[in-house]
Amino acid sequence: MKFGGTSVGSAQRMKNMVSLVAAEGDVMVVLSAMSGTTNSLISISQSIKDNEPANARKQIDDLENKYFDTARELLSDPDLHKKAEEGIKNIFTSLREYIDKPFSLKEEKEVVAFGEKLSTMLVILYMQQCKYDAVLLDATEFMRIDENGEPDQKFIKENIRKTLNENPGHKIYLTQGFICRNSKGEIDNLQRGGSDYTASLLGAAIPAEEIQIWTDIDGMHNNDPRFVEGTKPVNELHFEEAAELAYFGAKILHPTCVLPAKYANIPVRLLNTMEPEAEGTRIFNTAPTRKIKAVAAKDNITAIKIKSSHMLLAYGFLRKVFEIFEKYQTSIDMITTSEVGVSVTIDNERNLKQIVEELSELGNVTVDRDMVIVCVVGDLEWQNRGFEADVVNALKEVPVRMISYGGSNYNISLLIKKDDKIKALKLLSKHLF
Ligand code: ADP
Ligand code: ASP
Ligand code: MG
Repeated sequence: MKFGGTSVGSAQRMKNMVSLVAAEGDVMVVLSAMSGTTNSLISISQSIKDNEPANARKQIDDLENKYFDTARELLSDPDLHKKAEEGIKNIFTSLREYIDKPFSLKEEKEVVAFGEKLSTMLVILYMQQCKYDAVLLDATEFMRIDENGEPDQKFIKENIRKTLNENPGHKIYLTQGFICRNSKGEIDNLQRGGSDYTASLLGAAIPAEEIQIWTDIDGMHNNDPRFVEGTKPVNELHFEEAAELAYFGAKILHPTCVLPAKYANIPVRLLNTMEPEAEGTRIFNTAPTRKIKAVAAKDNITAIKIKSSHMLLAYGFLRKVFEIFEKYQTSIDMITTSEVGVSVTIDNERNLKQIVEELSELGNVTVDRDMVIVCVVGDLEWQNRGFEADVVNALKEVPVRMISYGGSNYNISLLIKKDDKIKALKLLSKHLF
């Protein structure tokens, strides 16, 4: 069971989540930081980097007070409350020590790791107060990424099992999401929103019967509820469908967290801590198809078109194009081709200047920035008639820069301007659902 930031966002929410865990029994629990904490820790790091110690100190004091308040509300047992206060003081003393020292990315990663340490420390004490049979496991002992920043699944599997064998027979195993060590043994993390990834990696490693992602909404909705009214939960999704939605912007799931569950064939359920009886979304290998399930949108996309005067798509041309992206470690999301040109999209402009320079040797290059990929997910197997027509029809009033279809049986992606995103999402909901 993984609980996100809002699900541990206050003392009351922590109490609710612990009762959900206790009702389940025999469970491994992965927690995020309390909502807002990771953002605060990033902001504190920024103030330290900007050489603004007073500002950093003020933010640290405010955050510390929030934890003292939460501990007071959560823990009525005087001994446990005292333990929590000591734990909070220790963590914030360590945090203040970063202020007057050299501060690089390594230190920043250590600082953002405090969020998950704080939430798990409070929750384990509350579980003890409730007399539940629970232990806290330190995620940095078994969660590890390799030189490429990818999870080292072999290491994780061996070490979580070793840790469990050393702590046998408990009802509840609690650990931190998001944080890990890297190949040099330093504290690192699985990127923003990465607690979902911790949960699916651990679920696959144990292996669990089911991986539950508990959050603040009753499952994967058929469109982005932040921009479209009246969206509805999708009760059943195929792993492939969920992976496409997560990758193309459905924030409820971390982009890569579906894969470990899919390969281990462990169903994933998205559930709402505020409405635990709601059905939510079940993600599994044999989910029913034959319909369009949901729409998502991915922001900050840049489109690059390479047009050549000579026979551009002669063999070897695409290889030359892709090699330039490979050289600059920039992955491509969408591709469309014609006789005279090829368009691709990227979501990372870090090396755009060099990429465009080198592509210009192959042809005429144009760049469109501030674009959005809208991704429609469902049963888009090519023999099924009409689904792609419905999608394109729904968007007939929106200028479309690229369309990509046929890359998988599960998605059709369209590239549009950022300013048209909300309109496009609303039109798709209106026409498809
Ligand atoms: P947590 O902190 O529990 O990990 P997140 O904020 O990361 O929660 O994810 C849940 C949020 O994802 C929802 O509150 C909702 O605003 C957003 N979201 C975006 N797209 C979707 C979608 N298609 N279905 C459900 N939620 C979505
Ligand atoms: N606390 C981390 C974040 O805010 C990880 C997570 O919540 O999944 O990104
Ligand atoms: Mg999240």
